[in-house]
Amino acid sequence: MTNLKTASARFDSLTNGKCRPQSAALTFDSTGDPRALDHYFPIVRLLDDASSFYQLVQHIAEHPNFDLQLIGAHKENLTSQMPPSVRHLVAGHLAEVFYFRQDILARFLSSPRHFQLYTTPEAFQQDGGVAGGCYNPARESIHLVLSRLFEGFNGATPGVCPFLHELGHMLDAFDAGSWSMKRGEGLYPGLRASDGDIFTPKARDYFIKGKRLELTRYLSRFEGDLSQPIPIGHPYVFQNDGEFLAGYFEMFFRNPHYFALQNAELFMAYVELFGYDTRRAWTEDFPHYVNANRSFYASGQKPNKSGLSLPKE
Ligand SMILES: [Zn+2]
Repeated sequence: MTNLKTASARFDSLTNGKCRPQSAALTFDSTGDPRALDHYFPIVRLLDDASSFYQLVQHIAEHPNFDLQLIGAHKENLTSQMPPSVRHLVAGHLAEVFYFRQDILARFLSSPRHFQLYTTPEAFQQDGGVAGGCYNPARESIHLVLSRLFEGFNGATPGVCPFLHELGHMLDAFDAGSWSMKRGEGLYPGLRASDGDIFTPKARDYFIKGKRLELTRYLSRFEGDLSQPIPIGHPYVFQNDGEFLAGYFEMFFRNPHYFALQNAELFMAYVELFGYDTRRAWTEDFPHYVNANRSFYASGQKPNKSGLSLPKE
């Protein structure tokens, strides 16, 4: 086992100093104690026995179909040098999403699922990456700059989590009925009747009703009608069904109180689908999403045209 300084130097040399993880991650690298990573996963607050969560993280981290790679400059594969905290952080995000729906997780991991992390923004660009991260449907892979895994975790409550956003896109592309990746249709696994025994009809009903309400509110803002409550999400997520899915997915795990207050039915879709109420894990919301979205609608700017569709009932 290494000490904190050695753990930190390892990140520095791998990423040219571009990724400085919190001491929690470094503590994990030096001690191997899974509790060190609790700060990243609010779900542990609502579990009587967190050890089952740690076991699930370990199970995912070691799963043969959990294909997590670290790519350096000029596409060099550096996976063998990846610090253990990185593997446990990504596995932990899957575990917090699916802890109460391990049936969906098992199906998702029935074939290799690809996650590629890049040591630096340059390494990311050299492999065709755009912006700070994406889900690449052609490669069936999430691509993310390593530092982005850590960027939302410097405060008392976890903040922005680009990995969860991209995971939302990846889940959209996962067709649980055929156990394979396809073109996204704006639905999570478990929301289609063709998904078989993981199908969660109540969640589907709530999702359609809740999404319709968000769309109605968005369209009234678009028409200049200010009489209705504002939608929860930023206009960015109204551009298409995939962004809606990724954006609301992340908000369910970041600002559940505001989410539930604004649109109880849509919130219930997530509670039914993922099997838990994230408000129990979050004493208060991560304020940035709430405020940034509110202030857009308060600004009086006309939002862009919506590209959303609604699933058939
Ligand atoms: Zn997106």
